[in-house]
Amino acid sequence: MNIRRLVNLSVFVAFAVISQSDSIAQQTTESQSATQNPKEVDANETVDFEATLKKHVEHLATTIGERNLNHYEELCEAADYIEAEFKKYGLTPTLQTFKVKGLDCHNIAAEIKGTTKPDEILIIGGHYDSAEGTPGANDNGSGTAAMLALAKHFQKSKPDRTLRFVAFTNEEPPYFQTKDEMGSWVYAEKCRLEDQNIVGVISLETMGYYTDDKNSQHYPSPLDRMYPSTGNFVGFVGDLGSGKMMRKVLKSFKDNCEVPAEGASLPGTIPGVGWSDHWSFWQEGYSGIMVTDTAPYRYPHYHKASDTPDKINFPVFAKVVEGLVKPIEMLLEDSEQ
Ligand SMILES: [Zn+2]
Repeated sequence: MNIRRLVNLSVFVAFAVISQSDSIAQQTTESQSATQNPKEVDANETVDFEATLKKHVEHLATTIGERNLNHYEELCEAADYIEAEFKKYGLTPTLQTFKVKGLDCHNIAAEIKGTTKPDEILIIGGHYDSAEGTPGANDNGSGTAAMLALAKHFQKSKPDRTLRFVAFTNEEPPYFQTKDEMGSWVYAEKCRLEDQNIVGVISLETMGYYTDDKNSQHYPSPLDRMYPSTGNFVGFVGDLGSGKMMRKVLKSFKDNCEVPAEGASLPGTIPGVGWSDHWSFWQEGYSGIMVTDTAPYRYPHYHKASDTPDKINFPVFAKVVEGLVKPIEMLLEDSEQ
């Protein structure tokens, strides 16, 4: 998540406006070939979300630490870790490699091929790089961990649509919203170039900090009077074109998870609404939403050296990630989008 975008006051107007636009990007084309390898799938695998998330966040933020192009070895180590995790789930990861500053950068994808609508693809993604000077436990060890935990959960599923997990590189400054450098934009461009029918993108971004402390959630005025002042909820944010997807996901989440949730969508042209990798897919005409704890408006350790695993509320974070299972299942079966 990029602070330069977050400081704009219009950002939190996003939480005040519910979109009425229902347009969803559609293409018709072949998607990538099946990558699931059933031979390696453990049929008895059950995910302990809390333990799994904790393991991934600690590995990314503590064992590896700061990971970006100025800490390139660590960035590669994180990529290797994600690739190895996908393989553990019986999936076959594919790397999209591109050069920035002469260095190889990698987006890592793994998918479960759809049974009846394989050409319709749902992407669950999160960036795995961290900002300068931080081990990035919450931003975005949390999103990466959530993506991996969901991949583990869905490894044996046989969805109607194709379910694709993607770990993006170079989301943080100075690469944010920079053509040919921001990982998710490079990825989304390729999807468009190949006319892939991405029916939706869920960007998992800085989503592990929850507190019941009073006045722990901040907004620019007057939104502080319209929205909860306690930072115990998870936010779902989309642009107008993603309004329908956002509302469906929010409703399903609320029906299935006890953690409070707030959602909204705004025109994507308003600065600050595109806080993360979902923005890249908007540029290419796809629908996408972000799942977030609102980062700097709640999290005191945002982009600091103190963004360490001990700051994450793992019991609540685990409920949030498990709460995404039903909305994802709904999107995978949905015939409307
Ligand atoms: Zn981030």
